[in-house]
Amino acid sequence: MFNNIFGRFSRDMGIDLGTANTLVYVKDRGIVINEPSVVAINTRTDEILAVGEEAQKMVGKTPSHIVASRPLVDGVISDFEVTERMLKHFIDKVHHESFAILPRPRVVIGIPLGVTEVERKAVEDATLHAGAREVYLIEEPMAAAIGTRLPIQDATGNMVVDIGGGTTEIAVISLGGVVAWKSLRTAGNELNENIVSYARDHFNLLLGERTAEEIKIAIGSASDEVEEQSAEMRGRDLISGLPKEVTITSSQVREAIARSTRLIIDNIKSTIENTPPELVADIYSRGIVLCGGGALLRGLDRAIHRETEIPVHIADDPLTCVVRGTGIVLEDLDHLRNVLVLSTQNDSLPRF
Ligand code: ADP
Ligand code: MG
Repeated sequence: MFNNIFGRFSRDMGIDLGTANTLVYVKDRGIVINEPSVVAINTRTDEILAVGEEAQKMVGKTPSHIVASRPLVDGVISDFEVTERMLKHFIDKVHHESFAILPRPRVVIGIPLGVTEVERKAVEDATLHAGAREVYLIEEPMAAAIGTRLPIQDATGNMVVDIGGGTTEIAVISLGGVVAWKSLRTAGNELNENIVSYARDHFNLLLGERTAEEIKIAIGSASDEVEEQSAEMRGRDLISGLPKEVTITSSQVREAIARSTRLIIDNIKSTIENTPPELVADIYSRGIVLCGGGALLRGLDRAIHRETEIPVHIADDPLTCVVRGTGIVLEDLDHLRNVLVLSTQNDSLPRF
C-alpha cells in the first residue's frame, strides 16, 4: 500500500551498469542517460571532477593528481566506492530534474551471468548507497532479450549474444529462465587491445586504446565479405620515439582481431552444443540475436551465420537493449517479476 502510493510519484529507474557504458531509463520518460562508465577524480582533494562523457575525454590526458578511472572491469565492480559515486551522480541528475520532493527511486539493474554472491551484493549495495530505495537485479542477457522483445516467457528457445566492452554473454532463454549460458572476457576491449598489439608488432607503432577503438569502429570487420577500407592511425614510433602515421587496411584489422572473434564464435557453438535439443530446434528456426556494442562489428553476423548455419539478427539499437529491457520490466512488473534474480537482501522474490 505504502509502496503503491510511493511508486506513483517516485522516478523509478532501470539501469544498465556496463563496463563501457552506463544507461538509465526512467519510467514514463525513456532513456535519459547514456554515458561512458568513467569517473575523473582529483586524488589530492578526493573530489569528483567529471563523470561520463566529460571524464572520458580526460582518459590518457590527465596530470598525475587526476585519475580518470573505469570502476567496472569485465562486467563486475572493481572499485566499489567510485562505482557508487558514479551511480549517485547519475541518479541525482535524474532526481534533481523533477520539481517535487520525490521519494527515492526503486531501481531495476542488470548484472552479468554467473557472478558471485559477493559481486552481486556489491551491485546491490552500491545502488542502495547511491540513493535507491529498493534494488531489483536482472541478468543482463535476460534484460537484453526483453529489450529486443523476444518471447522469453514462452516454451521456446531464444538465443541472445550480448557483446559489451568487458564480457560477451551468451544465453539461451526459455520459460523466463536461462537454460544454457557462457560468459567470456573476450569482448570489445580485447578487440581494441588486439589492434594495439598488431600496430606494435607490425608497424612499431605505439597506439593509444582510444585510437585503436576508433579504428575498430571505423573499419573493423569479422568477415571478408565486407568492403575493403583503410584508415590512418596516429601514434608514436617505438624506435624514434616520434609521432608517426600509418595506414591500416580493414583486412589487417580483421587479422588483428581474428583470434578474439573466433573465440566468440566458438563459444556460441559450444553453448548450442550444451542446449537441450528441443530448444536447439527453436533456435535454428528463430535465429540468434546479437546485442551490445560489439554486435555492430561489421560482418560479425555473417561470420556467425557461416559457422553455425543459424540465422543471425542484429538487434535494433544494440547498445540500448539491456536498459530498454530493464525499463520494460519496470513498466510491467506484474508479468515479469519471475525473471528477476533473487535478492541477497532477504533471499525472497521481491514484492511490488
Ligand atoms: P558494456 O555493456 O560492457 O558497457 P556496450 O554494450 O556499451 O558495453 O558496448 C561497448 C563496446 O562496443 C565497446 O567495446 C565499443 O568499442 C564497442 N562498439 C561500439 N560501437 C561499435 C561498432 N560500431 N563496431 C564495433 N564495436 C563497437
Ligand atoms: Mg552490457
